[in-house]
Amino acid sequence: MKKVIIRKTEEIENWRRNINSEINFIPTMGNLHNGHIKLISTAKNDNSNINLVSIFINPLQFDNKLDLDNYPKTIDDDIKISFSNGADAIFIPSNEDIYPPNNKNIKFIKAPIELSSALCGLKRIGHFDGVCTVVYRLLNLIKPTNLYLGEKDWQQLLILKNLIQRKKLNVAIKSIPTQRDFDGIPLSSRNVHLTKNERKLISFFSSKLFEAKKDFQKEKKINLNEIIKKVSAKKISIEYLEHLHPYTLQKARLDDNISLLAGAIRCGETRLIDHVFLMKRRPIIAIDGPAGSGKSTVTKLIAKKLKLLYLDTGAMYRALSWLIVKENIDYKKEKKLQNILKDISIIFKSNTSSHQDVYVNNYCVTEEIRSQKISSIVSKISSIKEIRKFLVEEQRKIGELGGLVAEGRDIGTTVFPHAELKIFLTASIDERAKRRKSDKNSKDLQEIDLRTLKELIKKRDFEDSNREISPLIKANDAIEIITDGYSINEVVDKIIDLYNDKIPKETEIK
Ligand code: C5P
Repeated sequence: MKKVIIRKTEEIENWRRNINSEINFIPTMGNLHNGHIKLISTAKNDNSNINLVSIFINPLQFDNKLDLDNYPKTIDDDIKISFSNGADAIFIPSNEDIYPPNNKNIKFIKAPIELSSALCGLKRIGHFDGVCTVVYRLLNLIKPTNLYLGEKDWQQLLILKNLIQRKKLNVAIKSIPTQRDFDGIPLSSRNVHLTKNERKLISFFSSKLFEAKKDFQKEKKINLNEIIKKVSAKKISIEYLEHLHPYTLQKARLDDNISLLAGAIRCGETRLIDHVFLMKRRPIIAIDGPAGSGKSTVTKLIAKKLKLLYLDTGAMYRALSWLIVKENIDYKKEKKLQNILKDISIIFKSNTSSHQDVYVNNYCVTEEIRSQKISSIVSKISSIKEIRKFLVEEQRKIGELGGLVAEGRDIGTTVFPHAELKIFLTASIDERAKRRKSDKNSKDLQEIDLRTLKELIKKRDFEDSNREISPLIKANDAIEIITDGYSINEVVDKIIDLYNDKIPKETEIK
């Protein structure tokens, strides 16, 4: 496709009408740096959509005339940078194109008070209304599928997410982590105005935020006054420093696993914002659902894509059942049960990135635990109180540091009730029986006819859903996904989108 530069509103409307493919949109105010380059190249690598970069210094979002006049303008370089990093088209409108005088169709949008009155909104009156107005106008002209934004302006990102929901716009936000310079300060177009000394001070401020993040991992608490004291001692003037819930921007609560530490400082004429996300542990995804709902396939793929640990709790109940059968243990007798729970070791070993082997007391049982014999007794065995108590504790130990996706029946309700994302995966009984029949891991299931298979699944569903302790139920805050008619990849992508909506990209381990 020929690369194009578009300047007029009519031109962009024409161009849009003639484009059949979907669009990734990267809005900027120019003076492009590595942060913008990362946005453009991420969009390029994400899919084969057309990448449109806009360069427009939006007067409505400046609360200070001098700041607007001084905003750096480097349009020739910006064009070169955009095209050489994956832009297919660049939109460079004038003020009159975006805000034609006397045009009643231009909507001036107000940002929501609950999000815009916190942090930067306190001092920058009208700033977020201006941001909402320009983005709404651009989205209506461009009608993109994806909107790429940096997490550097986290409050802005939340406000735009809210705008998209409120106005029911059909566009997904894709975010990238804050990009930093060699001295740790967040890249920003305004950095060109900084003196050497100002850079040093800002770098000091950013380093204190990172220190707080590290301390928080160890101590699980934060002392804002201490940071303020250290920063103020360097004659840096702090506009605000707050510890908040990352999505509501209300004061952080003790049980928030992820929280936001955000600050704004002034050095001379320059104002700079920075933030870090504090985490008690890495995120957890809980995936529950009945037999044959596609949990294992989906969970494994998610683990691989998001670089999370994969925990198959069903395999642990199966492994224990296997030992009980092999040793012919009368599991109804408490003493006998206690004896095996005392000595049993169930461990997972990965032999490739997508395959795990299960070992019981150093014996590999990966295949044997999938037999029909084990499937038919596992629900009975897993309804026993002592067994559940023992395995739930083991599972919590594995998930102590987070960074995992666990599948089972009671993950969202009992094992990890504070998981960041809870999914309840299900499908019709017909679909689940069909899937089980073609499951290559359960060879003897392939020989059972479909009707019998359906009855066996129904029986197991009934036992799992009606047991006294931790029955299979959807957690109140779980999102139900019915997978009939969807491909595996569609389900995986849906869950990853939900995860990205709840977890800042910046919390990911590189
Ligand atoms: O997921 P899978 O079919 O391998 O699970 C086998 C059995 O283990 C389930 O039918 C259920 O009885 C039990 N289980 C459980 N709680 C979990 C995971 C599995 O009770 N978290």
